[in-house]
Amino acid sequence: MTNAHSHLDSSITEVWELLGQIGQETADSPGITRAAWSGNEEKAAELARAFGRRHGLQVLNDAFGNIQFLLPGVDPATPCITTGSHLDSVPHGGNYDGLAGVAAGLAVLAAANADSRSCALPFRVVAMRCEESPWFGTAYLGSRLMLGLSTLDEIGDLVRSDSRKSLRHHLQALGYPRTDGATAPLLNSGLVTSFLELHIEQGPLLEADGIPVGIATAVRGNVRFPEARCAGAYGHSAALPRRFRQDAVLAVAELALGLDRHWQDRIAQGDEDFVFTVGKFSTDAAQHAMTKVAGEVRFSLNFGAAVKSSLDAARTLLFDLVKGIERDRGVTFELGGEVGTAPTEMDATLMAHIEEAAGALGIATRRMPTVGHDAAMFVRAGIPSAVILVRNANGSHNSEEALDREDFARGVHVLGRAMHRASAR
Ligand SMILES: [Zn+2]
Repeated sequence: MTNAHSHLDSSITEVWELLGQIGQETADSPGITRAAWSGNEEKAAELARAFGRRHGLQVLNDAFGNIQFLLPGVDPATPCITTGSHLDSVPHGGNYDGLAGVAAGLAVLAAANADSRSCALPFRVVAMRCEESPWFGTAYLGSRLMLGLSTLDEIGDLVRSDSRKSLRHHLQALGYPRTDGATAPLLNSGLVTSFLELHIEQGPLLEADGIPVGIATAVRGNVRFPEARCAGAYGHSAALPRRFRQDAVLAVAELALGLDRHWQDRIAQGDEDFVFTVGKFSTDAAQHAMTKVAGEVRFSLNFGAAVKSSLDAARTLLFDLVKGIERDRGVTFELGGEVGTAPTEMDATLMAHIEEAAGALGIATRRMPTVGHDAAMFVRAGIPSAVILVRNANGSHNSEEALDREDFARGVHVLGRAMHRASAR
C-alpha cells in the first residue's frame, strides 16, 4: 500500500465521523433536515470549516456562505481542479445526498496535505448552499450565485417555503457577507479547470446490478407540460351510448398508454435512458360523479432523457397521438405551456479518467445518465465536469437513504485518483 493510499484511508475514517456528527446535529426525525441558509445548514458548514482548519487547509467563504477549501500555499486565484457538492437537504431527507460529496473532497484534500510530496497541488473543494429546490422553488441557488450565473439582485427576493422570509433575509441572519477578510473570488471557468462531483446515486440501478460506482454520462434534460387539459363533454353514465361520448378520462388514458407503449418500444430497442411520467391526473371535484361521463381532465406530462433527440421524438409522438385521439373521441386537448431543460453532457476526458482510476483500483463501474446535480451549473459556466455516482440503498430524498462505508471509501479513492490524473494531464 502506498503512502498516499494510507493517508487517504485515514482521512476517510475521519470524514466518515464528520458525516455522522453532522447527521446527528441536523437530525429531524424521520431523517435530517438542512434547509437552505438555515441554522442546520450553517451547522454543517461550521463543522466542515472546523474540519478544514484542523487539517491545515485554507478555508474561504464567499459572500453567500459557499465555502472553498484549498491546500496551504495555493493562491486562491490559481486555476484549480475542483470537487465538492451541497450542504443542504430536502425536508426529512437522508444525510448523504450532497454531504457525501463535500466529505469526499475534504478526505482527498486532507490526505494530500498530510502527504508532503503533494502540498502545492491545485485542488479545491467547495461546499455549496441550496442545491435542493423545495426551499425556494428552484434548484442550484448556491452554485448559481457562486459561479455568477445568477446575482443576488435577481434572486434575493425569493421566499423560502418554510419561513416565508427572503433569501436576502436568511443570508443576513447568518451574517453573510462576512467581513473576516476571507472573501474569496467568485469561481468561474478561469479558476476551475475541471469539476468532479461525487454524489450518491439517487435511483436503484447500482444496487440492483451489484456495482459500487457509476459514471454519469449526462444530467437528464426534460420536456414538461405542467398544466395540460383535455375537454370532453359531461353526460349520463347509463343513458349515453359509446358513440355519443366525449369521455375526457378515456382520452387522457389513451394518450398516457400510447406514450407508455413508446417507452416500452424504446426499452425493447435497448434504450434505458428515456423516462415518462403522468404525475397529475384529475377530474373536476366540483363536477365529477360516479354517474357522469367525465367532461374534463387536468393532467401533467413529464418526459426525461439524456439525449435531446429522444425528447424531440417524444414531443412529436405526443402531438401525433393528440391529433388522432381528438378525431376519434371528439375531445379537445390544450397542452398548455411547455417548459424544460436541455440535457447536460459530461466531459468525455474526465469520464475516462474516472473509468481508468476505478480500473486501476479494481472497482467495477457502469456508465449511466443521472439527475440534476450542481455539476450541471459548472457545465453551464463552461467548465468541463463529471459526476462519480456511489451505490446507495433505498434511493434518495427520503430518511431511509443508506450509504455503505466501504462504498463511500471506494468512491473517494476513485475521486482522489481521478483528480490526480486530471492534474497530471
Ligand atoms: Zn444532491
